[in-house]
Amino acid sequence: MSIESNLLKKERQNVTFSVEELTNVWDGGKEDTEIRRKVVKVFGDDPVLKSPPICTMTREERYTEATRKCVYIFRNMLQKNGIYPGSKEFEHFWNAMPIEYTLLIHMGAFIPCIMSFGSEEQVAKWLPLSANLNIICTYAQTELGHGSFLRGLETEATFDRETQEFVINCPKVSSMKWWPGDMGLNANHALVMANLIVGGKKYGMHPFMVQIRDLSTHMPLPGVTVGDIGSKMGFEAIDNGFLYMKNVRIPRENLLNKNSEVKPDGTYVKKASDRLMYGSMVNLRVNLPKSQAIDVLAKACTIAIRYSAVRRQGLLNPGGAEVAVLDYTLQQHKLIPQLATVYATKFAGEGIIKKHQAFLQNMAKGNISDLAEIHALSASFKASVSEQCTEGVEVCRRACGGHGYSQASGLPHLLSKVTPTCTYEGENTVLYLQTARYLVKCAKEKAADLPESILFLVQPIQNARGNITSLDNLALYFKNRAALCVQAASKKVNQMSNKGLAMHEAWDKSSVQLVHATKAYVIQYIFDAFASFVKEVKCSKSVKEILEDLCCLYGLHYINNCSGDFLKLGILTAHHCNIAEEAEIALLEKLRPNAVGIVDAFDFTDSSMESCLGAYDGNVYERLFDMAKLSPLNKEPVHQASYKYLRPYLLEGRDILEGAKSKL
Ligand SMILES: Cc1cc2nc3c(=O)[nH]c(=O)nc-3n(C[C@H](O)[C@H](O)[C@H](O)COP(=O)(O)OP(=O)(O)OC[C@H]3O[C@@H](n4cnc5c(N)ncnc54)[C@H](O)[C@@H]3O)c2cc1C
Repeated sequence: MSIESNLLKKERQNVTFSVEELTNVWDGGKEDTEIRRKVVKVFGDDPVLKSPPICTMTREERYTEATRKCVYIFRNMLQKNGIYPGSKEFEHFWNAMPIEYTLLIHMGAFIPCIMSFGSEEQVAKWLPLSANLNIICTYAQTELGHGSFLRGLETEATFDRETQEFVINCPKVSSMKWWPGDMGLNANHALVMANLIVGGKKYGMHPFMVQIRDLSTHMPLPGVTVGDIGSKMGFEAIDNGFLYMKNVRIPRENLLNKNSEVKPDGTYVKKASDRLMYGSMVNLRVNLPKSQAIDVLAKACTIAIRYSAVRRQGLLNPGGAEVAVLDYTLQQHKLIPQLATVYATKFAGEGIIKKHQAFLQNMAKGNISDLAEIHALSASFKASVSEQCTEGVEVCRRACGGHGYSQASGLPHLLSKVTPTCTYEGENTVLYLQTARYLVKCAKEKAADLPESILFLVQPIQNARGNITSLDNLALYFKNRAALCVQAASKKVNQMSNKGLAMHEAWDKSSVQLVHATKAYVIQYIFDAFASFVKEVKCSKSVKEILEDLCCLYGLHYINNCSGDFLKLGILTAHHCNIAEEAEIALLEKLRPNAVGIVDAFDFTDSSMESCLGAYDGNVYERLFDMAKLSPLNKEPVHQASYKYLRPYLLEGRDILEGAKSKL
């Protein structure tokens, strides 16, 4: 056994709680752990899903492999193994997916959208086709010239009464669809968001089913120019595409008409409020943070903490033995708060998912009174979590020194996977501003008119009592800060408006404070939700203590990072800040011996991380060497390029060196 493996083994021997029990808490119960493991095993054991490591493949190979595996999974594996929508197994299957996959937009965005926008007949037509991969459909909203400003989108769908068709056009180069996943190569249909025009009148954005490729040859249809947008940061396996449409005709029935319809005579009928459409969009946003950001940070923590436990560099005691870098307080200060972020955001996110499920049940009965709250919460949560996880993964990557730059560490891949979550499914700044509108509005309401999650904005602010770092007191600081920040931002909007600025200008001039206030609001939500979870969860004392410490660390680390804000608002004194700083350092020291156990509890398989630094056995150096040998550049002992271009000069060198030798 290598020295490094031995070090990890010792770390595991020193863990003071049951890793298996924490895994059960993480999964939501013992039964969930069993189901997840069963699904992960089915995927892990299947030889068809084996591929070379992604860091040894070209982009084309990665796209091909990802598509091959996805088709196999969706056509052969899921049904055979009883993994169908609605089953517990299905909840875990994204977790078990290969490290790269395509068809994410087809399965994860188009299918939910057709169910939200399509009438019963349309769902009956398109859903089985798409579930069986008999059609592949992308969700095409973003254009080259516009993304976050929906009303700026330029693609048009003009109703032709004569032929009972819509004519789809991208009037300018900037109007072509750009970015949608699965669109460049795989999709033969697109759910296109376009401006509906009937009789010269514009009705705004509507969803249309547009066939873009021939059903037999897969060639682009007349009027369609479609392809891959080229290499980008991350998502190498996915064919994000462009789609330029000129006079593409689709039947009238292809307007997805659950919420609005164009009758044969051109009459436009609005069947349901646009707010219902919003309700459906929230769906994607609620589920994104866990799989695309929190799990990614959890993997980065696993890699960085296991590696830091075996990477020995320097001395803590002069004359003593070399120490693992995880023994340095500064390394703990980088990594252990990231672990706290994983736990805080995961359990807070579950609260939002539950709220959303309740909202969907009410929506089915026609009650959408909670829409504003769930929209504001899910938008700011997605923005905050994607930001925290992106920053966290980068911290983990840099904490691995030189090896963190190597693709073989798995960390660059994780970083490029998590970073775009700040942009897609709602650009973060835009999402924060949407939530800010809700907060400013709520701050003017009476308590009786507000949902519980926001009551603190208008209720008297309590003072902290007793131990200033208790979970209850930390929750109070966050609430007070959020309330004061929202009040300050609202005041700024009013001041600007009283100075004579139009409301939109007053809003823009206050936007820095508004986004700041929204961040304060969502952090108080995350902390509060995590603290409530920790209080209520049924588990052993030792596991509870780990969760309490992580919760406290999450709060303290955040407060210490922006103590200026708490001081400025008069929530904390300099004395409090000193105590908070010392309390954080004490917690790092306390959690350090359990750090490897806490990441082990995530229970990631080695193949799900593809990391030489983060494998369970800690054999980092052998793995790095083996992976380097697999590099395509090492296929031949002499590379053609160096042979071809350098050889003449190297031969000159040989003559000089050998000539010098023969003269001796
Ligand atoms: C990997 C990836 C996958 C994607 N997949 C899809 C897909 O499948 N389907 C699809 O339709 N789209 C997809 N997109 C596109 C994505 O949804 C958009 O890029 C996103 O909505 C942001 O829009 P934008 O690019 O127009 O950014 P812009 O809006 O141009 O943002 C540029 C800057 O302007 C700022 N800004 C914009 N508006 C405001 C404002 N009102 N106030 C203050 N600041 C503002 C932003 O904060 C940002 O800093 C994908 C994008 C990526 C990166």
